[in-house]
Amino acid sequence: MNHFLGHEMANFEIAVETGVSNVELQDDCVVSIAGTWLPTPKVVRAGGSRPIAMQLLNSLIGVELARRPEVALKFTKRFGPLAIPYSAGSPFSFPLFDWVAHVARLTEIWAWVAHANREKTPADIGLFSGEYVRFADGGFTLRTLRLGTFVALEIASVPAPRLRVCANHRYGGALFEYHGCKSPYFIASDGREKYCSESCARAGKRRANLDWWNKNRKGGEDGTQKTR
Ligand SMILES: [Zn+2]
Repeated sequence: MNHFLGHEMANFEIAVETGVSNVELQDDCVVSIAGTWLPTPKVVRAGGSRPIAMQLLNSLIGVELARRPEVALKFTKRFGPLAIPYSAGSPFSFPLFDWVAHVARLTEIWAWVAHANREKTPADIGLFSGEYVRFADGGFTLRTLRLGTFVALEIASVPAPRLRVCANHRYGGALFEYHGCKSPYFIASDGREKYCSESCARAGKRRANLDWWNKNRKGGEDGTQKTR
């Protein structure tokens, strides 16, 4: 029995085959990440308390361009490539821009499913070809070979009303210093949470007060005025 946040999926499981070693950055013409698949796969199952989807989607928030390679490297060392199917003992390599594009696509899926839920419209999530469902030991497993597929399905397996983006999230941040929420993609535990944490809720309230003050104050001649 697979419990996902209290959501029971009695007869269906999502798993991915992954596991890598010797992962490193390469910088020839383009920055790439290269490594080797383990001879025997590590099987990772959906349903944990910290979905890989959240860790992945939050990994680039507020990260400046120059630091993206180390973020992608760290994630790949831990979980493996996103778009390349597991192949026992083989080497792999992918350009960093592919990885960043893939994270952007999965981030869109999160927002898109949440939107479709609000608007009561369908949302199709495209998977790679060649994925299949296996029936064994009385249950079904979608055992994908690609972590990117696994992450898309992790998102699909969360009840859509709980997929949230913290209201303290600020878009941008790759070029400027980032002051918004550092992990805005979160799974809500009830129907009302707008913020991922207490500290984001406080920051959001401070910002709302400041906005109110800016709108309602009498401005000085140079447009600035000290608060009392
Ligand atoms: Zn937050």
